[in-house]
Amino acid sequence: MAAIKSSIAFPPIDLSGPFQRASGEVHVIVGPMFAGKTTALLRRVNAEGLKGRNVAMVKSSKDTRYAVDHVVTHDGSKFPCWALPNLASLRQKLGDDAYRKVDVIGIDEAQFFDDLYEFCCKAADHDGKTVIIAGLDGDYLRKSFGSVLDIIPLADTVTKLTARCELCGKKAFFTLRKIVETQIHLIGGADIYMPVCRQHYVNGQLVKEATKNVLESRKHFEVPAAMH
Ligand SMILES: [Zn+2]
Repeated sequence: MAAIKSSIAFPPIDLSGPFQRASGEVHVIVGPMFAGKTTALLRRVNAEGLKGRNVAMVKSSKDTRYAVDHVVTHDGSKFPCWALPNLASLRQKLGDDAYRKVDVIGIDEAQFFDDLYEFCCKAADHDGKTVIIAGLDGDYLRKSFGSVLDIIPLADTVTKLTARCELCGKKAFFTLRKIVETQIHLIGGADIYMPVCRQHYVNGQLVKEATKNVLESRKHFEVPAAMH
């Protein structure tokens, strides 16, 4: 009996020619809150602008902490931007002609965009754009936030920045929520969140758990107002 061939030899594929497109790039900047992600994003986007490249900056319309039409860093520097509910609407906002002329797209607070993966694929693979995104890799529970981590397999570079632990000054990798509130998407600044090292993250969570238990047990023993 003739041996069954386990593989089929295909002719070599010609990768040059009509299928070739302009090559885009994807760069990801992650880290906890107060790690300077937006500052790093603005620095890169400004550097691209100085090279004569056309830049569009986008942020989520969910985040209105500083200014609606600017990306603003914690230390106050800013850059004009489009505040959008999703990334797909960038092209509609700009119009096809203006979109075609854009070389670099900066995305701040990328964790708020549900269509991040689809957008980055299309913009970099098909439209030849350089996409630079900044966002939280983890939430206050240190779980993946939005689809920021999904972009890593698409990325040319990944940069994880650190902050300074607010309690001891060591490197901070995590964001601790200072208040007892379980809603995942609670947008806030230094009033609600602080950057912490591993040890202070663990300690902070323990303190919060204890506080929550005390509050809940109090609620349990409270006498209903009607009984007074
Ligand atoms: Zn610490």
